Amino acid sequence: MKYSLPRYISKAFLVILDWDLVKKSQSILWYASFTAVVIYFIQIKYMYHPLANTELLIRFQWLFPGIIILNTFFILLGYFIKNKPDLHIYYVMFLSVYYPFSLLGLPIGVGLLNLLNGIIFMGIAFTALLLYPRFVVYFGLAFYVFAYYILAGLTVTGYLDYAVAYKPYTLLHKDIQNAQIIYTMFYTTLYAAFTITLFDISVERWRRYSSKIEKLSCTDELTSLLNRRGVNEIIDLQMQQAQITHRETSLIMVDIDNFKTINDQYGHHQGDLVLKHVADILRKNLRASDVIGRYGGEEFVILLPFTSIENAVLVAEACRKALEQTTIEVRENEPLSIKACFGVSSTAFSGFDYRGLFEQADKAMYQAKRNGKNQVRTALTL
Ligand code: GH3
Ligand code: MG
Ligand code: MG
Repeated sequence: MKYSLPRYISKAFLVILDWDLVKKSQSILWYASFTAVVIYFIQIKYMYHPLANTELLIRFQWLFPGIIILNTFFILLGYFIKNKPDLHIYYVMFLSVYYPFSLLGLPIGVGLLNLLNGIIFMGIAFTALLLYPRFVVYFGLAFYVFAYYILAGLTVTGYLDYAVAYKPYTLLHKDIQNAQIIYTMFYTTLYAAFTITLFDISVERWRRYSSKIEKLSCTDELTSLLNRRGVNEIIDLQMQQAQITHRETSLIMVDIDNFKTINDQYGHHQGDLVLKHVADILRKNLRASDVIGRYGGEEFVILLPFTSIENAVLVAEACRKALEQTTIEVRENEPLSIKACFGVSSTAFSGFDYRGLFEQADKAMYQAKRNGKNQVRTALTL
């Protein structure tokens, strides 16, 4: 496979999309702080330029360490709450409000140095779009432009000595008049709108692209259920939710009885049709919020969010009966009813531990096999 720049960029996109929300929030603060510091030093050291508001920058120096310290504090806070999942949501909610303020260093630090301006806009808008809903990003940028207009307006009317750029001034022996100042402001707004829209479109495209890939890589081709990978991912998320809300969640493992015999008697192709049939019957007996996937060859796993083990047993029993009572024509005039074993476990017994939940359901399922097949067993009866 050839590696090119777009490929690297797309890989980086996918890596960032895979981060959890806390890590994403932290990364935005890192970026905002890092660019603020870089801009600050570049401007203070090398760019005493009539178009850069270096004077103001010097006057408001204290703002920089202030914002950096605050940003650092919130980044560290992120690490601190990492293993407290019930706090994650509050952290992310807070940061989506704080985010525009984390950029506060920028309107003051940046003059009209458009290259740097562009890099900041792109980076911040881009990372933010990966993380926050659109309106938050637009709000942040509107805030930026608004702050910029206020400062410029106060300067033009003589109330503030923001930047020489907003007063008639002489540059390269030319008198720059108000018309140009207005042009500059207009240009900056257009520029901001253009950059953000461009990135909005490309991020959206990436989101769609990667969710398509995600979907393909999580779907079982034969039954259209989730595959093992998809099941693992979704169940992992559901377990986090169950843990946060402290609500019992149940899991059912299903293994078809004597499937080898079906394969041997009717052929592998008919075996595949039986798998599809079983998938259909199981799905029909579940709610939309239940998660079902094909975990192995002829093994299925069902997660019932916010469901007690007693109710999960009822669901398993309904599925078992439905399988037993419907038939599939494996050969002409040869209807076959499928039997299977069901092992049920719940977080009430395993705790909110993903592996424990699986192990208990698996054990219960093997109990059912040993006990004569075609039945439901629970972790309760182990
Ligand atoms: P038990 O009642 O103890 O579960 O007996 P079993 O015959 O079902 O035994 P086991 O679970 O070990 O059998 C799994 C069989 O499933 C073996 C394998 O040939 C078959 N199998 C696995 N994946 C597929 C598939 O995608 N299509 C078909 N047709 N068969 C498959
Ligand atoms: Mg099996
Ligand atoms: Mg089997």
